[in-house]
Amino acid sequence: MADGFTCKVDGQYLSACKVSRGEDLPEYKDGYCVLHYPGYVPTQDVEAHEFAKFEKTLEEKREEFEKVRASKLDCGDYDFSGTIFAEGTSAFKDFEFDAQTNFAGAKFIGDVNFSGAKFSAEDTNFSAAQFSSEWIYFEEAQFSSKQTYFLGAQFYGKQTRFWRAQFAGFVTHFSTAQFHSKLTNFAHAQFHSSSTTAFTGVEFRSEETFFMEATFLAGWWTLPELPSRREFPSGERKQRREELSGWERD
Ligand SMILES: [Zn+2]
Repeated sequence: MADGFTCKVDGQYLSACKVSRGEDLPEYKDGYCVLHYPGYVPTQDVEAHEFAKFEKTLEEKREEFEKVRASKLDCGDYDFSGTIFAEGTSAFKDFEFDAQTNFAGAKFIGDVNFSGAKFSAEDTNFSAAQFSSEWIYFEEAQFSSKQTYFLGAQFYGKQTRFWRAQFAGFVTHFSTAQFHSKLTNFAHAQFHSSSTTAFTGVEFRSEETFFMEATFLAGWWTLPELPSRREFPSGERKQRREELSGWERD
């Protein structure tokens, strides 16, 4: 890399340390480029003032970060693997990701908006991404990449919304993802990948999880393992769980 600088980020995410036309990103702080700079990380138990310090260091990188983000988006470089998105830097509403899209291992601190975004390259990868924001919006997003991965992704916060999202292409993998948001909504989602739609080992820990009117048309699929209480009230729930695990074995 230029000037002998190699970002301290985990090696698997080094491909993202670039700006337009493949130019390497310079060091921003503490051995990291601006995308991967994690902010001040407290070494002991996080107390309120420590956490404020952490947020401030992320806030400080925002201006520089936004320049790099815009430059990458302009030239179709959608490799944001391992990137730490500070509050206010995750607005991708209606954006068309028409080239390889990699958000693997990214951490989203602020609210996230991919509503109406279109993902159409060969691969779209959100594996191991962590969404710790209050609002996580993928509603009406269209995933038509050959492979769409949310393997092991973690969703926290208040609402995770995949309402009316469409998954086409060949493979859609949510396996081992964890949904911890208060509300997780996949209502009216269309899982139409031609080969596989997999929810193997997914944990639904939300108070409410909705899959009403969702359609699964893939050649092979596994269903979510734990329907929410609201969808299958008390008595019905156990029975539905048995049915669901029965389907899974087929
Ligand atoms: Zn980096």
